[in-house]
Amino acid sequence: MRVAVIGGGVVGVCTAYYLAEAGHQVAVIERYGNVAQEASFGNLDLLGPASLRPWFSPGTLGRILSMLYSPESPVAFSSRFQPAMWRWLRKAAGESRAERFRQNQQRLHRLASFSQELMQHLAQDHGLDFQQRSGAMTVFRTAKELDAAQPLLEALGEAGVRNELLDAEAARQLEPAMSADTPLQAALFMPDDWAGNCPLFVRQLRTIAQDRGVEFHFNCEVAAVQPELGGVSMRVDGRHVDADAVVIAAGADSGRLLRGMGMQLPMYPVKVYSASTAIQEYERAPQVALFDDCYRVALTRLGKRLRIAGCAELGSSNFDLHQKALNTLVKVGDDWFPNAANYRSANFWCGPVAMLPEGVPLIGPTKYANVFVNTGHGAAAWGLAAGSGKLVADMLSGRRPEIDADGLTLARYGDRLR
Ligand SMILES: Cc1cc2nc3c(=O)[nH]c(=O)nc-3n(C[C@H](O)[C@H](O)[C@H](O)COP(=O)(O)OP(=O)(O)OC[C@H]3O[C@@H](n4cnc5c(N)ncnc54)[C@H](O)[C@@H]3O)c2cc1C
Repeated sequence: MRVAVIGGGVVGVCTAYYLAEAGHQVAVIERYGNVAQEASFGNLDLLGPASLRPWFSPGTLGRILSMLYSPESPVAFSSRFQPAMWRWLRKAAGESRAERFRQNQQRLHRLASFSQELMQHLAQDHGLDFQQRSGAMTVFRTAKELDAAQPLLEALGEAGVRNELLDAEAARQLEPAMSADTPLQAALFMPDDWAGNCPLFVRQLRTIAQDRGVEFHFNCEVAAVQPELGGVSMRVDGRHVDADAVVIAAGADSGRLLRGMGMQLPMYPVKVYSASTAIQEYERAPQVALFDDCYRVALTRLGKRLRIAGCAELGSSNFDLHQKALNTLVKVGDDWFPNAANYRSANFWCGPVAMLPEGVPLIGPTKYANVFVNTGHGAAAWGLAAGSGKLVADMLSGRRPEIDADGLTLARYGDRLR
């Protein structure tokens, strides 16, 4: 089949790779001049089933609201008067209730574990080096934060994900560079999780996919997708382009393309921030990736640089940098590894991610026979991309998926959309 993939982010490129492997003739259509230019560019680089969680967990919304007027916070609001944003937040708060969170976490784990397995094969089979480092740690500053994390700890236990809850002393032994001045109640160490350079991985996989015959059409923007009998037609820069099937992997723009076909998803574009800075004192820099549960910000070491990312901004549709988000990234760096780098002079970046209230992506067929989706990965696509690419490629090829797709498809919203 001739399959078009809209979007050259980590999800689109993984999808194209597995579609080509399944024997299809694949073309990726990307509006920028290269792959990994949007969310996949600023990615924090955490991979692995234990680090990937729905953004909203029990107690998250309460914590966000209690920090609304602090100079630093896990969420910044650029406008507080958008009814659509509050409607979406209400849905997300519903999904963060303990029972719903548990179910969503289980679905993410299933996909993340599958994805991790595939990533390891990809790295081995093609000899990929994308600055991988193993080990990740979530730090809890207070006993209250640790209590709120109980549903997560239970979900990890149920999923059989290897993890170790460390007291402050053991955590500091594991990561000796961590500042002793910042309060630390406990840390969750995840030895099998890892981090790596997402844009570098995407560029490497693009080359391999090209060698397998995948065509990349850069600087081409898809304005609309029109399902037709036995195929699809796309409007690309004023021209009509036909394909036998299309996979929409357009990140934050996926909602708009699907709306154009009458499919309204509860998807909201959230801006997420990252900062990259050169390491100044190597022995004072982290060895494993660190995730600060209070501010929902993570810090990873990538070669000679440190990357800090997190802090979601709601209610903004431009690329302006919000001071509160920058303060939050700088605070987390200064709090944990104050001498490792000068965080204030970092290169700051922000980009949109397509967030669904459940924090679980949508993969597979839609109500139109030749239109497939692979989107809504929120803040966790890098760790899910290989698995969701393989899943959608199998579904489109009429093959039996290698994992149970329950809860990962549009079927979770009823018959309206599939
Ligand atoms: C700061 C930050 C930190 C993150 N940290 C992590 C992490 O630690 N671990 C993790 O797993 N995930 C993380 N994520 C999330 C992850 O990066 C995203 O979920 C992932 O990159 C999304 O990939 P994507 O391919 O769906 O979207 P994108 O990378 O946004 O790709 C979509 C592509 O589609 C193109 N496109 C859109 N519309 C059109 C159109 N109409 N025509 C043509 N092209 C189009 C865009 O130009 C873009 O290149 C983070 C995200 C951010 C922003």
